[in-house]
Amino acid sequence: MSEKQYMTIDGIPVEINGEKNILELCQKIGVKMPTFCYHSDLSIYGACRMCMVENKWGGIEAACSTPPRAGMEIKTNTERLRRYRKNILELLLANHCRDCTVCENNQKCKLQELAMRFNIEGVRFPNRAKSTKNDDTSSVCIVRDAGKCILCGDCVRVCNEIQNVGAIDFAHRGSKMVISTAFGKPLAESPCVGCGQCAAVCPTGAIVVKNNIDCVWEALDNPSVRTSVQIAPAVRVAIGKELKCQDGENVMGKIVAALRRMGFDEVYDTTLSADITVMEETAEFIERLENGGKLPLVTSCCPGWIQYAEKKHPEFLENISTCRSPMQMMGSLIKEQNKGAEKKMFHVAIMPCTAKKFEASRPEFMKDGQPDVDAVITTQELILMIKESGLVFDELEPEAVDMPFGAISGAGVIFGVTGGVTEAVLRRVSENKSRAGLLEAANAGQRGMEGIKEFYLPYGERQLHIAVVSGLGNAERVLLRASAGEHFDFIEIMACPGGCVNGGGQPYFSNAKEARSKGLYEVDRMQSIRRSQENPIVNSVYKKIIKDRAHELLHVHYTAKHED
Ligand code: SF4
Ligand code: SF4
Ligand code: SF4
Repeated sequence: MSEKQYMTIDGIPVEINGEKNILELCQKIGVKMPTFCYHSDLSIYGACRMCMVENKWGGIEAACSTPPRAGMEIKTNTERLRRYRKNILELLLANHCRDCTVCENNQKCKLQELAMRFNIEGVRFPNRAKSTKNDDTSSVCIVRDAGKCILCGDCVRVCNEIQNVGAIDFAHRGSKMVISTAFGKPLAESPCVGCGQCAAVCPTGAIVVKNNIDCVWEALDNPSVRTSVQIAPAVRVAIGKELKCQDGENVMGKIVAALRRMGFDEVYDTTLSADITVMEETAEFIERLENGGKLPLVTSCCPGWIQYAEKKHPEFLENISTCRSPMQMMGSLIKEQNKGAEKKMFHVAIMPCTAKKFEASRPEFMKDGQPDVDAVITTQELILMIKESGLVFDELEPEAVDMPFGAISGAGVIFGVTGGVTEAVLRRVSENKSRAGLLEAANAGQRGMEGIKEFYLPYGERQLHIAVVSGLGNAERVLLRASAGEHFDFIEIMACPGGCVNGGGQPYFSNAKEARSKGLYEVDRMQSIRRSQENPIVNSVYKKIIKDRAHELLHVHYTAKHED
């Protein structure tokens, strides 16, 4: 048995147990090291120098890039380190446009937080940053503002290392260095897929979610339109922490109450159309399996993935299910139901996702020049609207969603987490209709936060090869294997690591995806109906609205969009 190894941090002996660096070891004893550029899922960059520690010989080293060694002795909070950190912060603030009170990231900004933590009361250097507010608004998903960039590189690494997109990178040198697309083109003309993962990691307001709140208020104030709203599964477990509830807690009833108080006429749950997606996608999968159709069938609910396929892998477009995403199915059904009504319907979708803003604007989802979904706002924007309304969210009495798009199954709810779509399909195809069947489906291999999960499932004489993937870099790895000839039958792809619980439009906290996915599985467990096919409203929507027009209302075909 190997002997335990220790190092000393601030006079406390700490056991080294596989930690990659001193920063992780500090967290173990409750010391939160200041950092702008450290993220455990990304490569070590070591650029911000905020996490410096002092060793017993008086040398200083970056805690994020120094592996712990037995016998090492370091201090995390000396007079010299405090001075050093203050200097860095003052230099960053001198190069930062200080529009704090009108910044989207006000009170969520890491630079602001650390300036307060280190008691910065003035900046000795002249402010060199020009206000460049909204200097790239070309994307419908995110907005870039170079004047607030502190060059930590987090966005570049997440876009390259996790998403394999590489839409942005460092450009120029020295004091001219900036984050840029290739040739400084607008983001909308770059390979960006709108996933918003760069906005999620950006410690300042230099990349933020594009805000569409104003057009929603305008519609709510307009007496000549009727307003309806749908709420995606992952929103209900992610909104709480910023509104005095818990991250992972299901606060759907309070969200519904808040939306009614804001003035929405109809409040619906996207989970119902996720149930319809399960019905359509399973039918398509079985049809392809039994009639020699194109395999693998690849899921279609994630618009970040759809854009990635269109731009980088058009050869897989025929593999993608023709089902519209649950958001677009619901938009299409709501507009269909409102046809001929006296008042025009303005339909809003509340999503965990920045890429859904792009999806709603696609020409494929317009009828007579009108979109099926008029505005998409993210969980972050909903929080702003609730705060702006002055509602005391944690004290709201929960309310139920409206019918007919209100009855849900547990299968639809778990769409918000990686593996959820696959599990919902397994519940649909499983012949075991007992509780044991649900347990069997839960243990097939699709649950958990790993980026690639694979398993085999018997189907008649065959063994189906199924892959569940989250993060576009992981998708790339699986697609390369499929291109090289490896056989897959079904692949679920979600662009964001962990799925929509960790979408670019969600409030960002470390370890949030675990708490939120646990929250969604708990919502599923509490439902009396847990299989999409057992949702009685699904059947009535087919009878009363969809009728024989499933192809027109629920399906879509995408075509290649080549990168420049
Ligand atoms: S939105 Fe996604 S694809 Fe676009 S730049 Fe950000 S991380 Fe890259
Ligand atoms: S845009 Fe944000 S994440 Fe990217 S380098 Fe600048 S501050 Fe860092
Ligand atoms: S995984 Fe979810 S949140 Fe992320 S891009 Fe896809 S649909 Fe949007």
